[in-house]
Amino acid sequence: MHNTLFVNLTAPNGQSWRQPTGLFINNTFLPSSGHIITSIDPATEKEIATVHAASAQDVDKAVKAAHGAFRSPEWRDKSATERGIMLTRLADLMESNKELFATIDAWDNGKTYQEALNNDLVEAVGVIRYYGGWSDKISGQTISVPNKFAYTVRQPIGVVGQVIPWNYPLSMATWKLGPALAGGNTVVLKAAEQTPLSILVLGELIVEAGFPPGVVNFINGYGKEAGSALVSHPLVDKVAFTGSTATASQIMTLAASTLKNITLETGGKSPLIVFDDCDFEQAIKWSHLGIMSNQGQICTATSRILVQSSIFDRFVSEFVAEVKKTSKVGHQWDPETYQGPQVSKQQYERILSYIDLGRSEATVAHGGEKASVGGDGKGYFVTPTVFIDMDTNARIWREEIFGPVVCIKRFETEGQAVAEANDSVYGLGSAVFTKDLERAHRVAASIESGMVWVNSSQDCDPRVPFGGVKQSGIGRELGYAGMEAYTQIKAVHVNMGNRL
Ligand code: NAD
Repeated sequence: MHNTLFVNLTAPNGQSWRQPTGLFINNTFLPSSGHIITSIDPATEKEIATVHAASAQDVDKAVKAAHGAFRSPEWRDKSATERGIMLTRLADLMESNKELFATIDAWDNGKTYQEALNNDLVEAVGVIRYYGGWSDKISGQTISVPNKFAYTVRQPIGVVGQVIPWNYPLSMATWKLGPALAGGNTVVLKAAEQTPLSILVLGELIVEAGFPPGVVNFINGYGKEAGSALVSHPLVDKVAFTGSTATASQIMTLAASTLKNITLETGGKSPLIVFDDCDFEQAIKWSHLGIMSNQGQICTATSRILVQSSIFDRFVSEFVAEVKKTSKVGHQWDPETYQGPQVSKQQYERILSYIDLGRSEATVAHGGEKASVGGDGKGYFVTPTVFIDMDTNARIWREEIFGPVVCIKRFETEGQAVAEANDSVYGLGSAVFTKDLERAHRVAASIESGMVWVNSSQDCDPRVPFGGVKQSGIGRELGYAGMEAYTQIKAVHVNMGNRL
């Protein structure tokens, strides 16, 4: 491993900066004890930089820093108002560096620069600012008890171990950092090995925003080594994870030995139901965005579309026309690009293998192959793919593909649509398109999912709880529900002089 803790980088869009590469522990960058992660541009397959990857021993150092900081007067005695001010300052600093963060995430992840700037950064800044506002509004209750007095206080949980995925590198970090810090916890956050860069630049802003050493620690590292060391560490009080359902299940097992509080946001195969009385143009627009944006790498992607029989053929033909018109595949820096490369070779090959499988399970209405961009055969580009005519046992209908691949299926009645929508181990998002108000709310009530979009898809707002049911997760992020997840209730009973 190189001992370098900073490298100078210049991205293809001309942006230059000094990139930290170490482990961010106690407000400084430290070398790891031997491992590295190589960050790759998925459009060119060229190396961007190597960063230090934490070993179990490094994770122990980070957790001990967070453990010490949680008990230090420098953090413990900060008022809630002061914590809120630090978060607001962090939001301002992120906003003034938004082009830099968008550049890093576009380069590292392959998402378009425009999407990173106008979607991810707006969300990331908004979430930190939102939780900055919550910090001094966390309160308990007073409870009437005969002849006694009882009250509750909401207190921080302690050291939080946070593990995030690569599809929205910076915003996934902010969803977890905002409420954790507003609530007075301390944090060790591990970024995904595919996208290790932006979190380290955020570390520099954490210092600038005034957070005391050890309150926020950022590490890169591999899931099996650094991730599992973090989620099983005895000094970690809560684990918050976003990623695949398979990993979440391992994390539950690892966290069980010391009974850690957990929040899990996992996979999905979200249904989108289109009734024949819908606003057709809106249904096409949102159903396209719901699966094809962010390269289809969205946990809430509405990847199973159920369309009422009478409008099925028209829907498929206009959906394909929308893909041809809108989903331009290209490099992440080209302003015309809608769909950049998939994040990694592994994801690219996984998606292509599902597409191969799909040929035997369904009919290809569009796409169904890799895409070539730039003519040099480089880059993890996939043509957006539309499958029809599969049955409900098809693996492409049931399993999460996590790429620009959609399955469209017909239904006859509302009851059949809801039953097929609910026939899944997942329950993250769902959408319904209809102009019938009663039906919209009836379907919203009966769909087994954590979120429902009526005449829309993928809406997400810091003020609104986000999360899944069934195997899509446990607990909620965002909104006040997200705040509650990072605090615990203490009950205080006061004897008012009744000694009987
Ligand atoms: P993944 O589960 O492989 O990895 C996610 C994170 O977990 C990474 O940081 C990884 O290093 C870490 N990890 C892996 N093994 C670990 C272990 N044993 N212990 C601790 N940490 C470990 O997921 P992925 O393939 O990188 O991401 C895609 C998946 O994430 C998809 O299934 C998608 O649906 C899901 N996802 C869900 C949400 C949500 O909010 N529900 C958001 C984004 C992604």
